Amino acid sequence: MAQQMGNQPLIVLSEESQRTSGKDAQSMNITAGTAVAESVRTTLGPKGMDKMLVDSTGSVVVTNDGVTILDEMDIEHPAANMVVEVAQTQEDEVGDGTTTAVVIAGELLSKAEDLLDQDIHASILAQGYRQAAEEAKQIVEDISIEVDAEDAETLESVASTAMTGKGAEGSKDWLAELVVRAIQAVADEDGVDTDNVQVEAIVGGSIDESDLVEGVIVDKSRVHENMPKFKEDADIALLDTAIEVPETEIDTEVNVSDPDQLQEFLDQEEEQIREMVDAVVDSGADVVFCQKGIDDMAQHYLAQEGVLAVRRAKKSDIGALARSTGGRVVSNVVDLTADDLGFAGSVTEKELAGDEKIFVEDVEDAKAVTLILRGGTEHVVDEVERAIDDALGVVAATLDEGKVVAGGGSPETELSLQLRDFADSVGGREQLAIEAFADAIDVIPRTLAENAGLDPIDSLVELRSEHDAGNTTYGLNAYTGEVADMSEEAVEPLGVKTQAIESATEAAVMLLRIDDVIAAGDLKGGGSDDDEDEGGPGGPGGPGGMGGGMGGMGGMGGMGGAM
Ligand code: ADP
Ligand code: MG
Repeated sequence: MAQQMGNQPLIVLSEESQRTSGKDAQSMNITAGTAVAESVRTTLGPKGMDKMLVDSTGSVVVTNDGVTILDEMDIEHPAANMVVEVAQTQEDEVGDGTTTAVVIAGELLSKAEDLLDQDIHASILAQGYRQAAEEAKQIVEDISIEVDAEDAETLESVASTAMTGKGAEGSKDWLAELVVRAIQAVADEDGVDTDNVQVEAIVGGSIDESDLVEGVIVDKSRVHENMPKFKEDADIALLDTAIEVPETEIDTEVNVSDPDQLQEFLDQEEEQIREMVDAVVDSGADVVFCQKGIDDMAQHYLAQEGVLAVRRAKKSDIGALARSTGGRVVSNVVDLTADDLGFAGSVTEKELAGDEKIFVEDVEDAKAVTLILRGGTEHVVDEVERAIDDALGVVAATLDEGKVVAGGGSPETELSLQLRDFADSVGGREQLAIEAFADAIDVIPRTLAENAGLDPIDSLVELRSEHDAGNTTYGLNAYTGEVADMSEEAVEPLGVKTQAIESATEAAVMLLRIDDVIAAGDLKGGGSDDDEDEGGPGGPGGPGGMGGGMGGMGGMGGMGGAM
């Protein structure tokens, strides 16, 4: 079929293709983008609601985490997906602030719609938004507060702010302390790699019983029951190879004509095993972690020598052990020497949540640590684990950057005030776009107030008057309902704010600049799947399909509100 839209020239598209152009395309994309933002808005801040997400197999996730919600929602509309990507970028870059970024993106789009209606061209809008974003990053940087690695108190506040509203309320202080200790332990000259903090989530016990093991927990038991369960002041060998006779020799077909010959063959094998075990023992190793298998005979000899051995340890565990104990991973057992060994004050087999595990602790400089996270039920543990992940990410980001800002909508309030002044200085049509940007940023304090059950107008007025008076760290405390200095209450890394501004702006600008959507095939939204004929009067079906998708998301929002 040849699709023809209004006065558009004729374009020959395939039967299934859809095309939406001009204002229709813009408003379709804006509607899709704002719907995504709307679906997570009620979860923002400490008093934000949670969402219960049920997938097609019936499995349930209860969460307050923006990126998790959007991932689970299985959004198909391409424009909506560009907003979801904002959350993903935010998660990858800084580990927190996903809801903030998406909500700002949605508000930038909805403010843009007003200006488009007033016939301000999309490229003027885009330019104004970009200018505003550049200025905004500078403004937040100017009001940021410096923090160093020793400042545990501020870092704990950063961690606890990131865990806000994520099911860890009662134990936030304790978890924040664990997170900061973990990050400080793994920090080195190159910065912080959060992969060196393993999180072991356990269902059972209370969140308060969570703890930090400054060392490595290997999810294995010792390989032979006659081996010791505990070794003090242990020298540790790390092997990424097997203590076995190489496979090929076993597979070789041996034709034995008399019993002596068989015996000789077996002796030869035993000899090889013995050599490997001797190499381990001679090196002085008390404990062996082997990434591959350990032959039965080798197990027996090692047990006889009082060595604690573990087989088939994960590669990542071997790496973590090398980092923590200072050992070197050896690939050829017979080459093992005392120099290769790592050291730990204690290596113990202990039960953890019903499974035997090996705890390698009391290492001199724990460059890899394990956070043992406990909680009453699986859903609780899962949500607290997401909170911990966020907290680890932001504390690491804080150490990297060395700067924080106060929370509770304080940077956003400052931004919207200063951006309005900036808009005046720019003038022209861009001024309108910059003002729209300033208005859009207000969505954060406004939403924090709404979600805390406060009057958003009152809160905004009070916030502005404090900021007018030069109190740049004043924000809304969602717990007390008061506007107060938030620099002691809740702080966030500067990067969370700058990244949110940057990715929200990029997504909004990208969507606004699109004036033509040509889809090869069905523009999938939930509704259009059920009813293929939909969208007749509206033109080429695009808006119809999208309407269906949005309906699904609207349902999400409603559910959150009802809880
Ligand atoms: P995000 O996914 O964007 O991190 P959150 O639900 O974690 O969303 O909410 C973050 C927002 O909550 C930030 O603006 C932060 O400043 C704010 N916030 C944190 N603690 C408080 C508090 N005690 N009072 C008010 N706002 C707070
Ligand atoms: Mg957060």
